[in-house]
Amino acid sequence: MINPYNFVRSDNPMGKKEPNTYECIRGYNGLITCRLETRTPIFTPAPTQRPAGRAAELRFFRIDNRPALPCSSLKGMLRSLAEAISSGCSPFDSRQHPRCNSKKNLCPTCRLFGYLKGNDVHAGQLCISDAIVEDGYELAKERIILKELGSPKPNHEAFYKEAAREQGRKFYYHQSHIKGVRDIPIEGNPTHRNVRIEPLIKGTFRFTIRYWNTSDIELGLLLHSLELPEGLYHKFGMAKPLGLGTIHINIIGWKEYSPESDNPASRYRQFNTNSLNISAESSDSETQKQLRHKIDFFKGAYASEYAHNLGQPATNDLWSLNSKNLNDLKIMLSEVSYSNEIRYPGFRWFQDHSQERLPSTQDIHNGSRRLPDN
Ligand SMILES: [Zn+2]
Repeated sequence: MINPYNFVRSDNPMGKKEPNTYECIRGYNGLITCRLETRTPIFTPAPTQRPAGRAAELRFFRIDNRPALPCSSLKGMLRSLAEAISSGCSPFDSRQHPRCNSKKNLCPTCRLFGYLKGNDVHAGQLCISDAIVEDGYELAKERIILKELGSPKPNHEAFYKEAAREQGRKFYYHQSHIKGVRDIPIEGNPTHRNVRIEPLIKGTFRFTIRYWNTSDIELGLLLHSLELPEGLYHKFGMAKPLGLGTIHINIIGWKEYSPESDNPASRYRQFNTNSLNISAESSDSETQKQLRHKIDFFKGAYASEYAHNLGQPATNDLWSLNSKNLNDLKIMLSEVSYSNEIRYPGFRWFQDHSQERLPSTQDIHNGSRRLPDN
């Protein structure tokens, strides 16, 4: 048996510094357009009031009556991935991941995504739109009652407490065998703790990211968090432990703004001729090549800096580096072959195995450890 989530370890963190601020326009500014495609059913709920004592009925989130993914959830997903990629600070202030504690000295994730501590605020350097579905999507025809997401948790130190947190950041395995409604684990005897949901079986979405004042390294980190190497995927939304939420993101358009083009007073000045302007609709091979070239350039800038940080030879290929966080991420973001062994240990199991520790990502992957089945 394999627990639905595991931990991505930390490695040498990227250096901290003061972010570029609004007062002057510096660095890179632009707008990136992304396509997001589902690979398993996904679900993200519309706001609703939960009736007392009854199973909650949750509809898929919508904008203008079309399924959509809220920007706040997209931002959360990208931020936690950026944290793992850069070994940046995390919401847990642990020994391994100390949080940033002044806006004058921020890790690249806080510089990009923002930082808040009392009155000490950095708004971040990007703004993500909601993702709107394109035509041809498929919502489940009937609502389904999910198996309970977390089994009742006994006080199980080895799994859930500090010991586990110190291991790193939590990621859920992809479960590529969940293809349609019938594959989703449903509850036969629901109680008030179960939820009834309306999953999206498949769909393609589009969203944009506006960024400003970024350095090449910050922009590189953003691009790495958005576009993963072949065979690695993001996980989004609710019911991740039950196998929902595997998605694929790629960049399809990019418009760079020269500093002046941001200023309405100077909009008639000559547009910077070196700026890229690739609309999401342009598909000829020359513009595609230009787009790839640009993405690789900034990803390479981040990779060299991260290699330097790890004390490894310079490279443009981040994912070829040997670090604990990247090695674990390569497993947790892939469609592992053993995903049909995944399930939450039940209450009984915890009683019988109170000292059992969660096997590491690497131990499971090389086949040396599993949780006992019963
Ligand atoms: Zn930080």
